[in-house]
Amino acid sequence: MTSTVGVLALQGDFAEHAAVLTHLQRPWRYVTQVQHLHGVAALIIPGGESTTMARLMTDLDLVVTLQTRIRDGMAVLGTCAGAILLARQVDHLSQGLQVMDIAVQRNAFGRQVDSFTATIAAPTISPAPIHAVFIRAPRILSAGPNVDILARLDDGSIVAARERNLLAITFHPELTRSTAFHEFFLSLS
Ligand code: GLN
Repeated sequence: MTSTVGVLALQGDFAEHAAVLTHLQRPWRYVTQVQHLHGVAALIIPGGESTTMARLMTDLDLVVTLQTRIRDGMAVLGTCAGAILLARQVDHLSQGLQVMDIAVQRNAFGRQVDSFTATIAAPTISPAPIHAVFIRAPRILSAGPNVDILARLDDGSIVAARERNLLAITFHPELTRSTAFHEFFLSLS
């Protein structure tokens, strides 16, 4: 039986991720409380505002449960703010999950007006180049030895990385037509 995918729905563009899961015909549910994680083997943390999401996760007592579930193997896709929340080291953010061996700089490409699109190669994910939307995106500054780099920008910036059950993407695959990253993520659970 196909297990249910959780979509953390505290803030941000969770509905767009849910639409991709519906399109891929995967059962999903929104997660706003610890109880909603029951039976969930994979979780998506959307883009949005990482400081707001971190505070809500703390207020709702989700942090320790999520850390434990991740340690026990729950797959997590973090996009943009979601990637920030996964990172072990982040500038100007306390109370993230700190579960993935990457260091991240928030808003590394400038302000909202500096948001941009790029075509990226991610050969392990898709044979065709992928159109990527970056919105006040973070930069992955460094990654530990167990982290696979899946895609970079032309300037060398890491934009997608995987460490075991964790997938961090600094752009928004839920806003474009390619479902390749979501399908790759679903194969991890
Ligand atoms: N700049 C946001 C943050 O730091 C992330 C932006 C996004 O998720 N699109 O949380």
